[in-house]
Amino acid sequence: MLKYVRTFTSTAFAVASICTQFAFADNLPAGRAAVEIENGEYPASYFPNTEILGKDELRISSLGTGMPNQTKAAVSISFFVELGNGDKFLFDIGSGATGNLFSLRPDFSKIDKVFFSHLHVDHVGDFMGLHVGGWLSGRYTPLRVFGPSGGTEELGTRSYVQGMQQAYAWDLQTRAGALPDEGAKIEVTEFDYMQENEVVYQENGVTIRSWPAIHSLDGSVSYSLEWNGLKYVFGGDTYPNKWYVKYAVDADIASHECFLPPKALAEYFGWDLTQATYVSTRIHSEPAAFGKVMSAVEPRMALGYHSVLSPENYQAILEGVRSTYDGPLTLARDLQVINVTKDKIVVREASVDDYALPPSVTMEYINAPRSEEKSPSDKVNAGKWDGYTPPPMPERK
Ligand SMILES: [Zn+2]
Ligand SMILES: [Zn+2]
Repeated sequence: MLKYVRTFTSTAFAVASICTQFAFADNLPAGRAAVEIENGEYPASYFPNTEILGKDELRISSLGTGMPNQTKAAVSISFFVELGNGDKFLFDIGSGATGNLFSLRPDFSKIDKVFFSHLHVDHVGDFMGLHVGGWLSGRYTPLRVFGPSGGTEELGTRSYVQGMQQAYAWDLQTRAGALPDEGAKIEVTEFDYMQENEVVYQENGVTIRSWPAIHSLDGSVSYSLEWNGLKYVFGGDTYPNKWYVKYAVDADIASHECFLPPKALAEYFGWDLTQATYVSTRIHSEPAAFGKVMSAVEPRMALGYHSVLSPENYQAILEGVRSTYDGPLTLARDLQVINVTKDKIVVREASVDDYALPPSVTMEYINAPRSEEKSPSDKVNAGKWDGYTPPPMPERK
């Protein structure tokens, strides 16, 4: 028998009452019902907000798997991890990834943690879009950012976040007061990029560790997330390195970049072969290198990303990987969804609505304290054209 969570109505009361019945239930969009998956029988496609994540289950949604020069089908890097205990985590939030996050219509009151692998724009470019978009869409608590230090203070995560807040000072001030005060805040945890498998986060049965990656400059890292006997590894960008091989062992899902091989990269970008070889095999990991790493780590599933999987690129990448690795493999696409339990790994594509809006917000968001709204100065307001009169304001319910 299918077990339903009662469909939320658009009233805030219904949202609040459901949240107390199901401690881990997400705030669903109006008109959506969520069903428990029974006997491991998943629908062929993943329709967001129609499945209740099992209490022992982990779900990884690829929000972006491509390059800095994005395509419609492959935006920059981001992975969204949801756990059966209700926790949610973002690993990187590259340019374009927030569009895919929003298309999943998640409960933004719970999207308050993002972990940066490094500060390239294809990994952090949508950070302010996440901060402001989430704040507008249900987050009434601070956004928590975890990321590495850099070779100098100004090259670290804290400096990046401070710079973003400064650059968007005007935007942030316009929204202050209209939106919950606490949601405006950003809390940064910067840790030593050289730490080896040290804990950077440990709450609610979830442990996240980091180790160094080798990429472009000092200040790039990989992460593992362990919870309930399951382990997900997020590689970030890296040349094949000894730390990954050592600390990614026992991963259920081991993700690692799997760049285009030199020849395909040269053709795709119109580069000469020397430049393509340097980028693909000295800054990044070509498919054969990815395969070698996975042969050493032997995860339950190897997850390669960081390319645009056009048919010819896909072929070149697959051939490279299969020259060095014959284990379970997924080459990640945007909006691919992986459900992981102890017994099963299921890889599907999400089916999303191009015009989907985020779900309605919770009572906690509606009631969260707000200071006074801002407006333009009197000298600017004096310029309002008297040829237009706005309709009267309806009374607040
Ligand atoms: Zn990078
Ligand atoms: Zn990258």
